[in-house]
Amino acid sequence: MNVAAILRQKGRAVTTASPSVTLLDVANKLAAKRIGAIVVVGARGEVAGIISERDIIRALSEGGPECLTRPVSEIMTRQVVTCQETDTLDELMAMMTARRFRHLPVVTDSALVGIISIGDVVKHHVAEVEMEATAMREYITHS
Ligand code: AMP
Repeated sequence: MNVAAILRQKGRAVTTASPSVTLLDVANKLAAKRIGAIVVVGARGEVAGIISERDIIRALSEGGPECLTRPVSEIMTRQVVTCQETDTLDELMAMMTARRFRHLPVVTDSALVGIISIGDVVKHHVAEVEMEATAMREYITHS
């Protein structure tokens, strides 16, 4: 299973925001869409950063509620790790585990074409493990 196969099932829609929107706008979008992170894109659609619920909690803890009026560009993570459609489920799990984050934007030819969350990774990993177990049971039963 690779990223292209996951995107075929979940779709390629990515929730994005421009760097100038406020942290409150981002929080509202996260709540409305029931997601954990938003990709921040520049004027040409390029990935400029990523902001997750954890960044908002940290900003609130450090700066108090006033931080909610600050632009997301001040709080987002700028060095975004992305993945490619050819990356495998195992590679995604390794990246998320090693770097301790739960979201990976997918980039093809410099364009943002999707996002994979840890929920997607776990869902497909469990499905793979179940398929293997079923195949193993059938093999044992019929041999
Ligand atoms: P998360 O686990 O995705 O909520 O994110 C935890 C921290 O990692 C936050 O500071 C995010 O801004 C950052 N982060 C999330 N995804 C990525 C990514 N793909 N590349 C770099 N940083 C990220």
